Amino acid sequence: MITIRTDYPGGNIRLHRIVGDDVYLEQDIRDTTTWWFYWNFRVDGAEGRKLTFHFTNRGVGEPSGVVAPFGPGVSDDGIHWDFSKRIERISDMEFAYGFRTDEKVKYFSFALPYQLANFEIFWESTLKTSKWLIKRDVLCVSERGRDIPYVVLGNPHAKKVIVLSARNHACESNASYALEGTVNWLINEPNDFIDTHRIIYLPFADLDGVEDGDQGKNRFPHDHNRDYTDVPIYEYVRALYRLLDGEEIDIGIDYHCPWLWGGENDQFYIPRKAEVEQKQIVFSQVLADELKKHDGIQHDPKFDIPANLGWNLSSHPMCANYYVKAGAKFAVGLEFPYFGTFFRDYCPERLRELGANVGRALETYFATL
Ligand SMILES: [Zn+2]
Repeated sequence: MITIRTDYPGGNIRLHRIVGDDVYLEQDIRDTTTWWFYWNFRVDGAEGRKLTFHFTNRGVGEPSGVVAPFGPGVSDDGIHWDFSKRIERISDMEFAYGFRTDEKVKYFSFALPYQLANFEIFWESTLKTSKWLIKRDVLCVSERGRDIPYVVLGNPHAKKVIVLSARNHACESNASYALEGTVNWLINEPNDFIDTHRIIYLPFADLDGVEDGDQGKNRFPHDHNRDYTDVPIYEYVRALYRLLDGEEIDIGIDYHCPWLWGGENDQFYIPRKAEVEQKQIVFSQVLADELKKHDGIQHDPKFDIPANLGWNLSSHPMCANYYVKAGAKFAVGLEFPYFGTFFRDYCPERLRELGANVGRALETYFATL
């Protein structure tokens, strides 16, 4: 008996019907006011069978499907995710999977989820025992009653801070692996920042959305990344204002993922902001030069989005804009693709390495300010 489940952190699907070996389903949009593409479900009891999954809710335009060119992310435990060559991608709305006879449980998702459990693994393995740990604390209690964690690392006497955040859009999970990479680099490799700064690491802005498997993006009446106003509606944003009040911010970075795939969405890029556009142009080239020294994911400034082009309006009350307003010497939002341009490019390990390289580029760039 096959069951399709979502009763775990990050779960999101609406099951329509199972007919033989064909499963019909769609992503659960919930309170998102536009079409979006996040989904994450678990299959139990399909061992030894080959199932075909048909998605029924397509967006508009091209691309507009929910099954990426590399196929979905897969996992055995809902925590460790990767892309798999065993996925048979049929179209941008269908994929098939042949379950091994010992595969009683398998998780599938749009890309590579990153939940609170992933952060706790990072905490246990790396942060908790770091000599640079100053404290782990609760920023605030979320609207749905969760403790939203944050971690402070570095020199407790330092006046200057670096703020690193993610998941202002709940579904943008790949960015979290890159953020882990930056934080890990800061505390485990020699650099100019760790002994002169306090690093404020905020892994989950919209923790409720992350854990409940919401799209988060464009949620009603607005999402977390449109809440950095004078009157924020989310407790996280209010608490962040209190936390950073009076702090001397050198760098503020907010980690994101872009749209589905194709064009700039397959590239690691910067949507530039008007107030800091010149600085971002310089940083972008430093970043490209740094990445060339390494074997991993590259960056080409030509894919950056100029300020106020298309959707990239600097007037939006976004997190990265707030860091600028709060006095950050340098602030940026970074867009980490869900998939990339070739198979396995944006797997968790490569994303972590990219995050470390972002740190290295920041070090080079910041020395010039
Ligand atoms: Zn985003």
